[in-house]
Amino acid sequence: MAVLSAQEAQQGSVTGAGVILRLAVPVPLRRLFDYLPPAGLSADDLCPGQRFHVPFGKRDLVAVLVEVVAESPLAELKPASERIDRQPVFDARSRHFLQWAADYYQAPIGELYAAALPVALRKGKPADHWAEQWLELTTEGKGLPETALARAKKQQELLQLLLGSGRQSRTALNARGLTSSVCKALIERGLARWVSGPTAPPPLEPVEPRPAPELNDEQRLVIESVAATGFSASLLEGTTGSGKTEVYLRLMERALRAGHQALLLVPEIGLTPQTLRRIAARFPDFRIAALHSGLADGERARAWLSAASGVADIVIGTRSAIFTPLPRLGVILIDEEHDGSFKQQDGVRYSARDLSVVLAKNAGVPVLLGSATPSLESLHNALSGRYQHLRLRHRAGNARPPEISVVPTFHQQLQEGFAPQVLRHIGDTLRRGEQALVFINRRGYSPALTCDDCGWLADCPHCSAKLTLHRRQRHLRCHHCDYRMREVHSCPQCHSRNLNALGAGTERSEDFLTHSFSDFNVIRVDRDTTTSKQALDKLLEPARNGEPCLLLGTQMLAKGHHLPKVTLVVIQDADGGLFSADFRAPERMGQLLEQVAGRAGRGDLPGKVLVQSRYPEHPLLQLLLNKGYGAFARQLMEERKIAQLPPVRAMALVRAECEEPRWAEEFLVNAREYLQAMAPPSPELQYLGPVPALLERKSGRFRFYLQITAEKRGLLQRILAQFCQWAEGNRNRRLRWAVDMDAQELS
Ligand code: ADP
Ligand code: ZN
Ligand code: ZN
Repeated sequence: MAVLSAQEAQQGSVTGAGVILRLAVPVPLRRLFDYLPPAGLSADDLCPGQRFHVPFGKRDLVAVLVEVVAESPLAELKPASERIDRQPVFDARSRHFLQWAADYYQAPIGELYAAALPVALRKGKPADHWAEQWLELTTEGKGLPETALARAKKQQELLQLLLGSGRQSRTALNARGLTSSVCKALIERGLARWVSGPTAPPPLEPVEPRPAPELNDEQRLVIESVAATGFSASLLEGTTGSGKTEVYLRLMERALRAGHQALLLVPEIGLTPQTLRRIAARFPDFRIAALHSGLADGERARAWLSAASGVADIVIGTRSAIFTPLPRLGVILIDEEHDGSFKQQDGVRYSARDLSVVLAKNAGVPVLLGSATPSLESLHNALSGRYQHLRLRHRAGNARPPEISVVPTFHQQLQEGFAPQVLRHIGDTLRRGEQALVFINRRGYSPALTCDDCGWLADCPHCSAKLTLHRRQRHLRCHHCDYRMREVHSCPQCHSRNLNALGAGTERSEDFLTHSFSDFNVIRVDRDTTTSKQALDKLLEPARNGEPCLLLGTQMLAKGHHLPKVTLVVIQDADGGLFSADFRAPERMGQLLEQVAGRAGRGDLPGKVLVQSRYPEHPLLQLLLNKGYGAFARQLMEERKIAQLPPVRAMALVRAECEEPRWAEEFLVNAREYLQAMAPPSPELQYLGPVPALLERKSGRFRFYLQITAEKRGLLQRILAQFCQWAEGNRNRRLRWAVDMDAQELS
């Protein structure tokens, strides 16, 4: 090996063996790191996308090879300790995509690669661990007609399956009841053989195949408007129950039949067994990989690898599934594109919805964003012609739009938050044998516990927030940091027993409604009653079976569920979003109301929606209820234009948090100075802050942000990239900072 002179090393022209690994290492620095190849490996063994163990300080980390270069500016390089994969786990397109995302969101590239991998692979488990046995036909087997082996039914079934859909994994065959002995019989006849291959997705529960309904004219037009090949981005604005999901299924089918993979992203609470069943029932002959948080690490790695190797045909997942490599990608579908869960709010703060359009462009495939209540961002793109704007205006099948009315709640004797006529309507609905759904925006028993004698209020010691009383669990809990304390029955301050639980959450309403409608099943659905996906499915079973029941719950009830017997929807309090300091609050309120209301009358029975409000005359509420979300959203867009806020302008936050509030604020004051020196404020670029976040203190840390709005994204990108290099030099270890591009929350 060539030995370098000191002079050469300083000039940064190290060549050595001329093979240097440039790796994405999972550390919070916005750069790649150079290593020498592990002992015994030469250039021929290296391929970008492979994982390596590398020494980093005193730690051993799992890094991804981004490129192999001949020179490094550094004088002394350590060798990587070990190559993990022979076959790269990231293909060229996904590496390019990750780099793009890292640049756009100002994210450390190594952390982004780590976020893209499922936990087991992030920890360095070799992909071979999940290698699988596949049964494939021999030339002789392929030559047989479907009618062969008629005397051995099981063998014939297996033969037909292999003839029809190609090789099958051992797991998939077992799931279909085709045992090893059936396989063995075929092998002994010389018709098939086992070969080793990549993992197949974990099998789903078997379901009865269900044929597709005949499309209506609107749906057909939408599908015809989306070109089968080449990049296009479309917004599908379609009322609840208008058959958007059916459109997704048809677009998926078209891609699958052309030999492509389909990616469907759904909100966190949208990935229910019900959703999976619907897709599995439609596509019994395709391999479905579901990437959701309910999977054990190993299963998740299998699902991911089956997608990345091209084995899975359909990939359904929540936000992070956008980073799964999909070598045969043919179409991307985003369900409920307005949903907040597509934006990651910590770590690498990306929007899977926005990234889906970039990915579709890179891959040259269509992407469809669907919602009954599109985000203003997507609506802006549609109205300005960047996206194709497609509409479904009518409910599919026989369902009609529900009738909506406001129930004013002032000057009324409310019972536990319900107006008398609302309770009457609920009773009537149940007695008719139908179902009612009551939406309450709060979990727990009561959002505040106070002392009537001295005014004590149960606060979280770590956050600027009140504790919520959870009476079932006999504790008070902080919904921001999860701090818990035992329920108290006397005031900790003055020992009075006159404690008062103010306001009602789902638990309290459940008590009241169970008591008021004791002849009927009352089902509470919130995060406390549905700790797993299965639990939600099980809870909703009586509702699906059509028996009269009263569902009450939080926004978990707002999405996805198709319950044709629900004919009454009650929104207990519509006012939350009208007066918030967050400019996005009215948009979110409008989406929620429309989505909840959309649960009413989805079957043959007509639906009714009752909305309780203290401000029935509020112009935004009036607009929403009389003209619907579409008109409401367009009005909000006008307001954003006047206020020069997103989506009309690009916006980024620089966030900082620290136990010592002064430090966080000072950091942002310096940040602003640094940025302004580079790009002074102008009509095209504005700075606001630092200001305290809406939740000023969380988990013991004080939180501030600096808000930057710009006419052009490019300018924002450039100055923030330089800012990050500057901020990485920040030596205060107790201060955390982050750039939040296209921030969704000011909280
Ligand atoms: P969305 O996703 O817009 O809420 P779905 O696709 O779930 O709507 O459709 C709502 C209901 O209408 C479902 O039960 C679905 O099976 C049914 N449906 C959808 N399209 C049609 C159609 N063309 N003909 C009959 N029923 C349909
Ligand atoms: Zn007291
Ligand atoms: Zn707290």
